[in-house]
Parts: sequence; C-alpha cells; structure tokens
Amino acid sequence: MRRKFVAGNWKMHGTLQNNALLIDALKVSVAGLACEVAICPPYPYLAQAAALLGSSGIQLGAQNLSEFVSGAYTGEVSAPMLGEFGCRYVLVGHSERRAIYGESDSVVVAKFAAAQAGGLVPVLCVGESLEERQAGKTSEVVSRQLAAVIDRLGVSVLTKSVIAYEPVWAIGTGVTASAGQAQEVHQAIRSQVAALDPVVANGVRVLYGGSVKPQNAKELFGQPDIDGGLIGGAALVAGDFLAICRAAG
Ligand code: PEP
Repeated sequence: MRRKFVAGNWKMHGTLQNNALLIDALKVSVAGLACEVAICPPYPYLAQAAALLGSSGIQLGAQNLSEFVSGAYTGEVSAPMLGEFGCRYVLVGHSERRAIYGESDSVVVAKFAAAQAGGLVPVLCVGESLEERQAGKTSEVVSRQLAAVIDRLGVSVLTKSVIAYEPVWAIGTGVTASAGQAQEVHQAIRSQVAALDPVVANGVRVLYGGSVKPQNAKELFGQPDIDGGLIGGAALVAGDFLAICRAAG
C-alpha cells in the first residue's frame, strides 16, 4: 500500500517572517494526518525551516541540487550540503529548470544520481508542454523523460525515489488536468516501470502536479495511480495547503 504524499514547492517565494507563520500553521494541523507531507523552501530558508519543523513529522526538501559533490561550481549546492540541513527530498527535472535553465534529460539523470548518492530521495518531475500534448506526444515525452533515468541508472533506483507527473500547461496556469487525463498518464508511467519490474512499479509513488487546489485535490488523489501531489501556488497559503493535505490524508 503506497502512503499518499503531498509536497509543497515554494519556488522563489518566502521571507523569514512569512515562512515562520506558514510553518507554524502547518505544524499544528498536519499532525495526525495519514499522508506524508513535505515542504521545499528556497535554499537560504532551509535552516530556518529545519529548525521550525523540528520533530513535527513534516519533511524538508530542496528544489534543486548540483550534479557534483563539491568543488569549483560557483552558485551550486550539493546533495551532502542539503542533507546537512535536514533535507530528505529534492526535486529534479522540474519543468522550470528544464525550460528556463536548459536542463537536459542527461543533466536531470546526473542530478537524480547525485541526490541518491548523497542520501536524498529525488522527486523526478516529468511532463509535456501544451504543444506536445496538442501534437499527441504526451506519452512519448513522458516516457522519454522517465526512460532517461531508467536506461542510465536501472529501474531499481526508482525504489528510492518519487515521480511527479506535472503537465507543463497546468503549472501555475490555474488549468488543471482532469482526473481522467492525469490518471491516464499516471497509469502509463506505472506500466512503463511494471514492464521492467512489477514490484518497483507497485511501490513507487507517482504524484500529480499542476494547479492542484482544495477544490480538485480529492478527485485527483482518488485515482488509482495518483499517490498525492506536488503543489506550487497553493503551498504558500496555509489553509489551501492543509486542505489539500487533508484530501490526501
Ligand atoms: C509546481 O511548480 O510544481 C506546481 C505544481 O505549481 P502549481 O501548483 O502552482 O501549478
């Protein structure tokens, strides 16, 4: 039985003051939920978040990492550094990293491997653009992004990872994939893994991301292959994020 998981991607938002208010509100209400909950604040706030989260049970994640461990890589942050600040999870291959910072499949694979080598659990983000969906290429794109990891690292690495299906056209747009559209891709992802290893496929959690809101969370999370959500905008509003966690938990 896969435990539902809701992770908040704060993106480049936050202040010391607002973070404290948000984390305090989450801590009180997340306790007792059956689902796992994580937040992914910007790097500079990880220490603050780790201290405030304490033993609340809410996990900490980062939004990105370097594919290298240490050295002359100005501006980069490695997996061991994130581990020292209490991170358990790290996003890899978010569509904003792929589109704005030009991260190719091979960079994403290197980051995935670096995360696991550093003891972190990578959350591998995959998803198609609007043009790709309209051209009927959704499954081709998503399966290519997933195969990049499997082909280079082997299917068993997925055991210690999470996959997030995030259609690019639904991220930050207010347009959500319907539960049926999302389930179709989630099922395809699980089938792709199952063709190689049914046990890994049955265990890996596949989250949906893209304009999840309190109003649509329950239906999305009720689909058989949707194991929770990666939440952007709504993760910054305590009441909304908590309602989404409740829908999963
Ligand atoms: C995201 O950035 O991963 C995301 C899902 O954003 P939003 O929920 O705002 O669409």
